[in-house]
Formats: sequence, structure tokens, C-alpha cells
Amino acid sequence: MYVYADNAATTAMSKTAIRAMEPYFDTIYGNPSSLHSVGQRAAEALMEQRAKVAACLGAKPEEIYFTSGGSEADNQAIRSAALLGAKKGKRHIISSAFEHHAVLHTLKKLEREGFEVTLLDVGPLGLIRPEDVAAAIREDTALVTIMYANNEVGTIQPIAEIGAICREKKVPFHTDAVQAVGHIPVDVDKDHIDMLSLSAHKFHGPKGVGVLYCRKGQPLLTFIEGGAQERGRRAGTENLAGIAGLAAALEEAVSHLDENAAHMTALRDKLIDGLSQIPHSRLNGDRARRLPGNVSFCFEGIEGESLLLLLDAKGVAASSGSACTSGSLDPSHVLLALGLPHEIAHGSLRLSLSEYNTEEEMDLILKAVPEVVAYLRDMSPVWEDLEKGVKHHAI
Ligand SMILES: *Cc1c(COP(=O)(O)O)cnc(C)c1O
Repeated sequence: MYVYADNAATTAMSKTAIRAMEPYFDTIYGNPSSLHSVGQRAAEALMEQRAKVAACLGAKPEEIYFTSGGSEADNQAIRSAALLGAKKGKRHIISSAFEHHAVLHTLKKLEREGFEVTLLDVGPLGLIRPEDVAAAIREDTALVTIMYANNEVGTIQPIAEIGAICREKKVPFHTDAVQAVGHIPVDVDKDHIDMLSLSAHKFHGPKGVGVLYCRKGQPLLTFIEGGAQERGRRAGTENLAGIAGLAAALEEAVSHLDENAAHMTALRDKLIDGLSQIPHSRLNGDRARRLPGNVSFCFEGIEGESLLLLLDAKGVAASSGSACTSGSLDPSHVLLALGLPHEIAHGSLRLSLSEYNTEEEMDLILKAVPEVVAYLRDMSPVWEDLEKGVKHHAI
């Protein structure tokens, strides 16, 4: 048995999504911009997919812009709001310290271009406080961008409250909802969201396709120049197969949201209870306000990288944090934002589940992780110092 528990990095495609893509490779292969009937058939199909996606978010079809994924949607939403704000003398942006790099690196670049960025503290439990957002908003604030749910520690932010504050203060509000859409209820109206990013491959759709939702009346700048696709906001012949896969996966996820969440929550809680038994371990992020499939732990005295390699050998695919930081030795910026010291943040493990996981697989994980942690601690000089009392345990 091999257990895939890295669904926050990417998911396997659902059979429904694969089947939904197939006709677009050799049957409905026209270019939606062509005037002939082959093209028009594709244009109609594109309209249908757009309407399906909009319905899943509580949006209107003309508010949906297809992109190459979550990163592109984040880049466009943030740069667009920043540059439009600057035209009115507004050069201040509010975000949080534990956003995805698609957001943080875009903000870094804007800082070099003269924008001022306030990164809100996320506290020890990984939750942003709406009152901190309210207090940070200024006359010259061009944008608030706060993620819906964190990709490493799984905490779900009070998005509806933050959205209401932004609406009242007339500041555009963007949310990176890549980890939330298809996993927990998201409604752009109820949540007062002006712009939202999502990505198909995080909910059993294909890689390389996503959506930027942009509320009617909220202006949006173009960054990929060319044809007039996506109402002139994103040029390039539409990835119709990918879009159909995205729409099918999203519909499937949203229509089974409650039962999937119940299944994953039961598996998640079994893992959390079991892993908490390991001495000097800690759960990262709020226990209740977290994604149904997220389990994030730190184990004192070990290195996350070695833990992952040994777990892989025992048949468990997991992550030490975001895929973007793995391969480098820097501890995760998310765990540091929670206030964890470097040496603790290094020993992190993220298990992210999907509805495809089973209880039997959780038993395998609960056998493998304690064995590997004990093995690594046996070889660790840091652990030896802790056990001898030369150093004090931090957790
Ligand atoms: C995966 C992810 C992204 C990037 O999406 P891509 O489609 O891979 O570009 C952005 N934000 C969050 C929170 C993510 O988990």
C-alpha cells in the first residue's frame, strides 16, 4: 500500500474531470474565436463551462476569468489593484505574513516599485484577526489580500468578516482561495469578496488552469497582451479542455462538499489524536478552524527532510510544508509566522488528505510516523542533548 497524503501540493484527477476533458482534444477542438461552426461549437462549450464555474461560487459568468492557475490569478489580481490604486495616489497594501509565495513575491516586487506593504501578524494559532485588518486600513490603502485557508497549517480565516470591513471602508478585497474552493463553502457575495483566485489541480482537476473571479464594477488590468479573449483581460486561445476539467471537478467537489468534509474530518482527527501521542510534538494551527484534510505537526529534534524521505520509503507521501520551499534548507515562512523557533520549524510534517483517502491508510501513517520519528531521534545529536538535559525542550 502507498498512501498519498500530499493533496495540498496537488491532487489526482477525478475520473469525472478526465472524462469531461476528452471531447475537447479531437471532437470540440475548434478555436472559440473562429466564426465557423467548429469554432462556434467551442465558443458555446466555453460559455457553458463559465456558467458552471460561476454557479459554484455564487458569481455571474461575466465575472469569471480563466487563467493558467492560482499563481497567475494572484499575480493579476494584486498587480491590477495596486497599479489602479497608485493612479489615485493609493500605494498601501495589506496582507498577512503567511500568504503563499505567489502573493508574497508579488508584494515584494511591488515594494521595490514604491508600494508600502503591511503584513498582518497571524498569531500562534495561524488566525488573522478582523480587527487588525480594520486597524491597518488607511486613506491610501489600495488593496487588502488575505488567503481564505492556509496551505501549510490549514487554518481557515474569518473571510466574511474581513470582507465586510473592506466593503464598508471601500477598499478592494482579494482572497487567495486556492486551498478553500472545493473543500469548504465559498460564496463571493456572502463573503464580500471582490477578487478571488482558485486552481483546478487542488480539487481533482487538471494542472495549469485556474480562475480569477473579479466582481462586476471592480476594474481589472490586462497583463498578457494579445487577442481579445476573456473580455480583453487575458489574451491567448482558451485552454478549453483544461477549463472543462476544472468546471467538472469543481461541480463534483461542490456537490459533495459536506460528505467529503465529514469523511476527511474523521480521518484528520484520527491522525491528530494519534500523532499527538508522540512525545515533544505539537499540532500547528488552530485545531477547530482548519481545513478538513489538513494535519500539520512539528517534532522536536528531527529534520523534516529526512522524515519525508524515510516516510516515502515506508509508503507515505507527505510534505514538510509548501512545495515551493522544499529543497531549500530555510524553515517554512508559515511556521516562522506562527512564532515557532527555527529548530522546531525544521521538524515539520504536513499530511494533507483528500476524499480518496481511507481509514486503513491512516493506520499505516500512524504506524510509520512514530517509527520514523523515533529512528531519527536516536541518531540526532540535538535529541541527545535534549535528553541529557544539556538543552531544554521547547515543546
Ligand atoms: C497551490 C497554491 C497556489 C498556486 O496555484 P497554482 O495553480 O499551482 O499556480 C496559490 N496559492 C495557494 C494557497 C496554493 O495552495
